[in-house]
Amino acid sequence: RIVGIVRETADREKRVSVAPDGARLILKMNFQVYVETGAGEAAGFTDVMYEKVGCKIVATAHEVFEHAEIIAKVIAPSEDEINMLHKGQTLISFIWPRQNEQLVEAIAKRGASCVAMDSVPRISRAQRLDALSSMAKIAGYRAIIEACAHYQRFLNVEVTAAGKFPPSKVLIIGAGVAGLSAIGTAHSLGAVVNAFDTRPAVKLEVQSMGGNFLELDFQEDGTGAGGYAKVMSPEFIKAEMELFADQCREVDIVVTTALIPGKRAPTLITKEMVESMKPGSVVVDLAAEQGGNCEVTRKNEVINHNGVFIVGLPDFPSRMAKQASLMYGRNIVNILDEMSGGKEANFKYDFDNVIVRQSTVCHNGEITFPPPKLAEP
Ligand code: NAD
Repeated sequence: RIVGIVRETADREKRVSVAPDGARLILKMNFQVYVETGAGEAAGFTDVMYEKVGCKIVATAHEVFEHAEIIAKVIAPSEDEINMLHKGQTLISFIWPRQNEQLVEAIAKRGASCVAMDSVPRISRAQRLDALSSMAKIAGYRAIIEACAHYQRFLNVEVTAAGKFPPSKVLIIGAGVAGLSAIGTAHSLGAVVNAFDTRPAVKLEVQSMGGNFLELDFQEDGTGAGGYAKVMSPEFIKAEMELFADQCREVDIVVTTALIPGKRAPTLITKEMVESMKPGSVVVDLAAEQGGNCEVTRKNEVINHNGVFIVGLPDFPSRMAKQASLMYGRNIVNILDEMSGGKEANFKYDFDNVIVRQSTVCHNGEITFPPPKLAEP
């Protein structure tokens, strides 16, 4: 079988689904790999790099779709790409089936199968192919880098001949994968980092990344089904917002990552809180795509609100395209490994494998989404 890698066609998307390093591992499983010329260029991977590991470079996406049995992509396919899919072919990509039912129907209509990278179950065994986690890790890191670019000061304490400077203070709201990554990054740059999450279970993880875990007197555990966040009571939200109001007067950088699966992101930082921040401070809202945690966030924009920068960019993984392609590519390698046991000849849809079942949204033209509910661990 041939695995095809095409150039991403979405606006400003710089990632490629598999970097040469991942392609080498796919070839090792005995698949062939076809790459559309220039597919990796925006992420820093040349055709020569792919050729060196044994890939075949082809001139157009059309040719890749024509020959490859498996197409690996990052962003859900465009209409043109859907029209190039054919019977029996497999597409592996982000899909977001719940929000994109028509897309799944269109793929199924082509007689194809589709594995949605966003639907990989979040169980320990699936961590190696969990692209939501690998991309969240990058987003959290980049949130701090992006904040620093606007903030224009050191994060660490500096005692120099040109003056003494105290460390900067950072608040992270939400300590999931992205939040923990932001805590670790800010801490490694020398900032004093405070963090809050509705799930008290993350306290130790926050501390292990170098953050101080903020606590409320209010007792309510935000751990919902499967260990994920649940919607909190209005009383709890009020209490945490009082804490954030105090923090906003103190800190220099706020990174918000609070999300609840399948729901609009809660508003936790109000306009008044932003206006109470020191001029030159920065809010990075990683929930911008899901409606934002900050009242004044504008998706896709960096705005200056009364001297405070509010960053609402939703594409941090693409802004670190090389790192993101290396990690996403490994997630793709691992799903191929999961489906083939590491041998091309054994590639199959084994619906007894919970990872394969949960992430397959259509199979040979038949819609298989939503999958059966996973038993609670
Ligand atoms: P997420 O991006 O959905 O949410 C981010 C964080 O926001 C969560 O920690 C959540 O508790 C928090 N949050 C929600 N509402 C909030 C509020 N009002 N105030 C403050 N914080 C709020 O989360 P995620 O990073 O995708 O994953 C969450 C957890 O799932 C992880 O910490 C981990 O325990 C687990 N997980 C497991 C696997 C696996 O086993 N394969 C993979 C990824 C994540």
